Amino acid sequence: MTITPLMPVYPRCAVRPVRGDHCHLIGEDGTRYLDFAAGIAVNLLGHSHPGLIGAIQQQAATLMHVSNLYGSPQGERLAQRLVDLTFADTVFFTNSGAEAVECAIKTARAYHQHGGDPNRFELITFNNAFHGRTMATISASDQAKMHSGFAPLLPGFRYVEFGDLQAAAAAIGPQTAGFLVEPMQGEGGIRLASQPFLQGLRELADEHDLMLVLDEVQTGVARTGTMYLHEQFGLQPDILATAKGIGGGFPLGACLATEKAARGMTFGTHGSTYGGNPLAMAAGNAVLDVVSDPVFLEHVRTLSDRLKTRLNQFIGNYPDLFEEVRGRGLMLGLRLRTEPRAFMQHLRDHHQLLTVAAGDNTLRLLPPLVIGDAEIEEFFAKLSAGAASFPMSQVA
Ligand SMILES: *Cc1c(COP(=O)(O)O)cnc(C)c1O
Repeated sequence: MTITPLMPVYPRCAVRPVRGDHCHLIGEDGTRYLDFAAGIAVNLLGHSHPGLIGAIQQQAATLMHVSNLYGSPQGERLAQRLVDLTFADTVFFTNSGAEAVECAIKTARAYHQHGGDPNRFELITFNNAFHGRTMATISASDQAKMHSGFAPLLPGFRYVEFGDLQAAAAAIGPQTAGFLVEPMQGEGGIRLASQPFLQGLRELADEHDLMLVLDEVQTGVARTGTMYLHEQFGLQPDILATAKGIGGGFPLGACLATEKAARGMTFGTHGSTYGGNPLAMAAGNAVLDVVSDPVFLEHVRTLSDRLKTRLNQFIGNYPDLFEEVRGRGLMLGLRLRTEPRAFMQHLRDHHQLLTVAAGDNTLRLLPPLVIGDAEIEEFFAKLSAGAASFPMSQVA
């Protein structure tokens, strides 16, 4: 037998974290890493936040899980808070981002099919998108690397160039149900939608009675300096998928919708055994207690400005290595002149700085939102040392 007990779908690196301490991870061998990956934009409060730990401990000791056959005071509270904080009128809780997107896709289709138009099933999606790894969510992305071996894909998705409003308009037909788009692509390389593009999609949706579905799984929950990134565009979606940071490390996601958009989501149309269980709701409420505070959101924007200003000065010292600083809030990207994996590994293995590689030659910087000046100083010390010692022979 040569297959590993953990199905070998991830090329796992040699770092083996066993403990977290605020913005640091400690490996099996005792090595301490500065964590600017945060579990891929998940650990908003870092790794040992007393509020989050306390909430989970207390709820675990009280009631963990009962299924959705029963009333949920815990779920009602978190749903009401999300409704109060956002465009949404109603919330379905999931256990992951892909499930949140799945629910969003079903909600968009049901909007039309419940409204008497069974032919409107197709979502227009965008090149280099990432929506998850389930059959529907890989089908929603044009990325061939995620399709290989898994044919046939699910019908009902049409891909157009990210940012090309005219192509999106031209793709609308009698079968179109809506648009599914990340307001800033994460996995695709920290690519922010332009104002005219996103606003144009909103206008096209209004004009043709289509659903604007935003995938804010990575950009949501204060990560970009507002509760959700679309707020910074001055527009609202009909349906939104959120996950990653929302549980602060506890598996949790949600599909948010307006009352109109959710008209097809009636009794018996959707479900989840675990979704929104009391333990997950306790984690979600504890995260919201911290991140929905306007003072905290201001802190994220202030630190973002500080990081971006210094990053822009810094990359000027290494024009052969870096091209551009990207992103919003604490979802930042360093665009390299080469594929970013070698530099990511160099920072990790030689300077104990964890980051995440993405598409479009971009290195993602996704620190916990609770970083402060000390972590920023440590980050620049490690990044500078990493850039200075990086063998430029690795830049093609
Ligand atoms: C991570 C991600 C997903 C999938 O979330 P999972 O929890 O891994 O299923 C979907 N959309 C976007 C934009 C993401 O970044």
